[in-house]
Amino acid sequence: MKLELIFLGPPACGKGTQTDKLAKHLGFPHIDTGSLLRVEIAKATPDGLVAKSFIDKGQLVPPELVGNIIRNRLSEDDCKNGYVLDGYPRSLAQAEMLEKINSNIDKEKANFKAIYFDINTELLIERIVNRQSCPKCGEIYNKKFKPTKVENVCDKCNSELKTRADDTEEIARARFETYFRETAPLIEFYEKKGVLYKMNANGSIDEVWNKLIQIINK
Ligand code: AMP
Repeated sequence: MKLELIFLGPPACGKGTQTDKLAKHLGFPHIDTGSLLRVEIAKATPDGLVAKSFIDKGQLVPPELVGNIIRNRLSEDDCKNGYVLDGYPRSLAQAEMLEKINSNIDKEKANFKAIYFDINTELLIERIVNRQSCPKCGEIYNKKFKPTKVENVCDKCNSELKTRADDTEEIARARFETYFRETAPLIEFYEKKGVLYKMNANGSIDEVWNKLIQIINK
């Protein structure tokens, strides 16, 4: 049965690291709306220019813009057995849109799971402002919690690390507000549908991974 996985949790809860690993483990595409939008921004496309104005304020980009990206991406052939969707949906309107997209694409019933990374939010701002990533291989580091061997250089491929433009304290605070207002209500939305899997995401990368795999195998 096709496995459709979506993930909920506040900014910097560890979703990116875990979902990237999970997608590789399952052989499914890892579809991360934040990264897809950053590609549009880097290419300076019309969508990218619109997206940037919202991302720079820590707000959600307009639903039609992300909806089109997701509709096109989920229709691709590599999603036919399943997908790992990271960063979408992020509002009730997006969750309803995703149901429509799935029902148009799926010929048979799929196994849909919403996995919620339940985490203590106190340290997350600090995680965000110290975060760095490799533009080449995508590895994520943290100056404080997961430093590289050589400062600003990727341990895996030796590329120079980058900091995301929206990983400042001010924008991070706005992203948290957006999360609690727009995205957190989805926890109840999916709970009512009986597809929510709540996972304690406070442990190490390996501890969280083990919990995640248990949920996937349920
Ligand atoms: P992320 O990389 O998931 O932290 O996302 C970075 C930014 O991209 C967010 O703060 C939003 O401005 C935007 N974004 C990512 N996913 C979505 C989405 N599903 N809907 C609207 N905006 C999004």
